[in-house]
Amino acid sequence: MWNVEEFMRAATVTVDGLATYVDESQRGLPPVLRRRPPRELAERLGLARWIREGGMTPDSYADFLAAYLDEGTRLHHPAYLGHQVAAPDFPAALADFVHGAANNPMAIYEMGASAATVEFGVLRWMLDKVGFGETGGGVLTHGGSLANLTALLAARAAAAPEAWTEGVPADLALLAPASSHYSLTRAAAILGLGERAVMPLDVDELGRIDVARLPEALERVRRAGRRPMALVANACSTGTGLYDDLRGVGEFCAASGVWFHVDGAHGASALLVEEHRHLLDGIELADSLIWDAHKMLRTSSLAAAVLTKREGDLDAAFQQRASYLFYGDQGFDLIGRTVECSKAELGLKIFLNLAWRGERGLGDYVARQYATAHRFWELAQERPGFECPYEPESNIVCFRYGTADQAVIREDLMADGAFHLTSTEVGGVRHLRITVMAPATDDKTLEQLLDLIGERGGPRADRPYPPRDVLG
Ligand SMILES: *Cc1c(COP(=O)(O)O)cnc(C)c1O
Repeated sequence: MWNVEEFMRAATVTVDGLATYVDESQRGLPPVLRRRPPRELAERLGLARWIREGGMTPDSYADFLAAYLDEGTRLHHPAYLGHQVAAPDFPAALADFVHGAANNPMAIYEMGASAATVEFGVLRWMLDKVGFGETGGGVLTHGGSLANLTALLAARAAAAPEAWTEGVPADLALLAPASSHYSLTRAAAILGLGERAVMPLDVDELGRIDVARLPEALERVRRAGRRPMALVANACSTGTGLYDDLRGVGEFCAASGVWFHVDGAHGASALLVEEHRHLLDGIELADSLIWDAHKMLRTSSLAAAVLTKREGDLDAAFQQRASYLFYGDQGFDLIGRTVECSKAELGLKIFLNLAWRGERGLGDYVARQYATAHRFWELAQERPGFECPYEPESNIVCFRYGTADQAVIREDLMADGAFHLTSTEVGGVRHLRITVMAPATDDKTLEQLLDLIGERGGPRADRPYPPRDVLG
């Protein structure tokens, strides 16, 4: 049994520790990340001893927690410009805490009536935002990769209903731009189509689907003796943060009877912003869509929605019968729609953020992050040596500085914890890449990043990067 008093002391230690951690992070006081090697880190955290001996108390836990947080990556830090992972808002953090204690694993209604009902309510809200309305169906799952797999499973069930029992026909194809997230190719392999069934769509120089050339792509698929199972568009693409023309692609798919899947893992949250909603124009034409809450709706990892235009399509994805779980009137079970059996109380995280901030507040966050990224693009343009291959549409920006190896620039900025950023290829050329996730990132942070790259790299193309003497 819990010693409730001990729990309350430990919980207070946790709240205090996290409050200090988030406050210092937001103010950018410590480095955004540390890069201590695992052996040394295990030593600092006393892992071997704790595992061997146990006996942690609220006091020793306080020390452990402080070290644990200190050695991690600070997503709330203004200099966090790395991967597309949210600096969670605190209502969502409270939901994780509640789930950790109550653990209503939600596989079936009787294991968590409120958790299931909250998930259902959140899904109805999302379906409404997308324009799938009353006829749509959805489920929350542990992440975008699993969500893509689930949506494509629904597409497979529509194209080849016999695949569940008989195995996968050899002629299915998945059409997707090469800029798609790797989870789509993985899904094709997991679904038994094989990676080679993923046939690339023609794209422009920035990796966006060339709508005018879709008929040719379909023709290629048919000439290869294959049947299109689904066609994928990005909203937005992971690498560049650019949106495909959903209306153009959607109309083509509708006219040619091809399942239209939209990967909105990162960018579907722009639906909440009047000013950016046009980026998702045509989304209601999709047969299926995924939307991550742990990216732009500020929940912790992972909470992703799979949404289908027709509810029955999602139910058809898993044709497995486990009748004791599907009992009708006394509630509903979403277990028939997920890879998972038990799953976390994912709806609560999204719901509490919504309940606290309102749809408006969540939209304002998205708008602010998109605006900050746009500001970075403007600032970079004004400086010598910086090149941006396109005007950003979201909170993801790609750029290059000088002619040095961009990966070395990134490595240098990360080495002393000054900034956390990523890199990607655009048009076959390595670029630096920032994703503006933390609310604490402002114009000043962006100027500092540009200054630092300029100072350390120097404006001269002939100088090797970085000049070690200025690193101190
Ligand atoms: C992040 C991302 C994914 C994968 O989502 P996870 O939740 O990390 O599994 C899929 N597609 C796109 C476009 C993404 O940006």
